[in-house]
Amino acid sequence: MSFNELGLSPHILRAVKELGYQQPTPIQQQAIPAILAGQDVLGGAQTGTGKTAGFTLPMLQQLLANHGRSRRQVRALVLTPTRELAAQVGESIIKYAHHLPFRTLIAYGGVSIKPNLDAIKLGVDILVATPGRLLDLLTQGALTLSELEVLVLDEADRMLDMGFIHDIRRIMKALPAQRQTLLFSATFSQEIKALADDLLNAPTLIEV
Ligand code: AMP
Repeated sequence: MSFNELGLSPHILRAVKELGYQQPTPIQQQAIPAILAGQDVLGGAQTGTGKTAGFTLPMLQQLLANHGRSRRQVRALVLTPTRELAAQVGESIIKYAHHLPFRTLIAYGGVSIKPNLDAIKLGVDILVATPGRLLDLLTQGALTLSELEVLVLDEADRMLDMGFIHDIRRIMKALPAQRQTLLFSATFSQEIKALADDLLNAPTLIEV
């Protein structure tokens, strides 16, 4: 299978080509069509499998497809357990979106919130955040998530291990019911299954 067969925009394919990717990895082959079809996804995948492009490429395509309605609010949210992962995933998203008109903000705690606030004032389409910093932004009223179209939970098992379940549940209250949700986890405990049950609507299961 080639990237060209997946139904992605030429602007997305151009970025993929520039990164030197020859063909989609197994998780990309499974996740991209499901996400483009609008399905929720429950994915079992480790880092290193191409998971980030697996959710980002179709997410960008969905944002493009709905582009045009004028909004100035966050359209896609990617939650990660750690600053390092937020930075890594955010930088990958910026590369994949290189030829697209979307603004991406990476927000995590332990550093000044002021640059986040300034970026939000200019408009953010895609927000990559750790749960704590996102809650800070929400409680300050800096941000609303009522127009969110796509939610991604990356490394959900690590988020639970790090004790973020209450933060995640608080964040969920700020999200619209109508949205597409993608949850990735390397392991599937009862706790992850319960969270997936609450968050996902008839998900497609993807395991690599
Ligand atoms: P990830 O699992 O998303 O952290 O990706 C692991 C590494 O694989 C990253 O360095 C990506 O740039 C790279 N990668 C992702 N998709 C592909 C692909 N289809 N072909 C070659 N490399 C890829």
